[in-house]
Amino acid sequence: MGSSNESCIAPSPAAVAAMADAATHANRYPGITGERLAQAIAGTLGLDAGQVVVGGGSLALLGHILSAYAPPGSSVIHAWRSYEAYPILIALAGAESVPVALDGEHYHDLAAMGEAITIGTRVVLVCNPNNPTGTVLEPGEIEAFLEKVPGHVLVVLDEAYREFSSPEAESGRLLERYPNLVILRTFSKAYGLAGARAGYLLAGPGVAANIRAVAPPFGLSSLAEAGALAAWADTEYLAESVSEVVSERDFLLAGLLARGLRIPPSGGNFLWIPAGARSLDLESSCVAHGVSVRAFPGSGVRVTISVRDASNAVLAAIDALRPQLP
Ligand code: PMP
Repeated sequence: MGSSNESCIAPSPAAVAAMADAATHANRYPGITGERLAQAIAGTLGLDAGQVVVGGGSLALLGHILSAYAPPGSSVIHAWRSYEAYPILIALAGAESVPVALDGEHYHDLAAMGEAITIGTRVVLVCNPNNPTGTVLEPGEIEAFLEKVPGHVLVVLDEAYREFSSPEAESGRLLERYPNLVILRTFSKAYGLAGARAGYLLAGPGVAANIRAVAPPFGLSSLAEAGALAAWADTEYLAESVSEVVSERDFLLAGLLARGLRIPPSGGNFLWIPAGARSLDLESSCVAHGVSVRAFPGSGVRVTISVRDASNAVLAAIDALRPQLP
């Protein structure tokens, strides 16, 4: 089991075949902006192709968003703890990172994030489901937040793990009402293409054009585009992969709850164990049981969902530490 929230399932065979085929034409450049993939995504979601920006992973796209919207001297609000790359990318853009603590149940504190907005705020990052705690905000909460955020502040909804939760409604419908919204997604998680590097974002046409303007050409390789196109079309494989991961997540969650641990419900392909001061001990115990997990010292341990043996090894690692875990 890896500890980077990768999928434990190989990509769709159709995607593998498409990448192999694309490799035979790799002497040619890809499209400048990945327009074939953008069109396919827009077609499925009922958006204009101009509203979709694709790139070599959602991390690269987030870098473009920040370079377009978070100039030096501005500030970017994000929850903490959340995705570790946020403060790094914000610093790379030369902006100031403003972390806002999660609430006591490991959810984004949207009220506090709204209150943290100042004249210098240009971007707010909302990670939903949140990495590493897995917590999911309801569509209504996000909408209420968007109502309050001033129009000059861009709200980036990072939905890297959305396929593993059951979003009641496609958040893309919010784009019509909130021109300051960007929805960031990836092929790295549920589609199992982390190594291929493909991601996409949805935005209003104006914001999408501003982001495309700062993205270097040929950012999406022809192999990644071919793999992502085939994976996007293979909806059956996606559904099967997701249900496999979700049922393993349910199994591990039940085992953790049965041991009296307080685990937040997760909408991702991972679970958060708030082990506090014992986080590093729990990580060592998991490693000793043959499973690689990610400890956030003093705070908790994130376990990426994998196969049954790995889940059982995590449970055994916990039993080896009990009763010291909080
Ligand atoms: N957002 C979140 C919340 C993530 O956890 C990750 C990967 N760990 C990413 C974005 C980046 O994913 P990628 O660049 O592979 O699309």
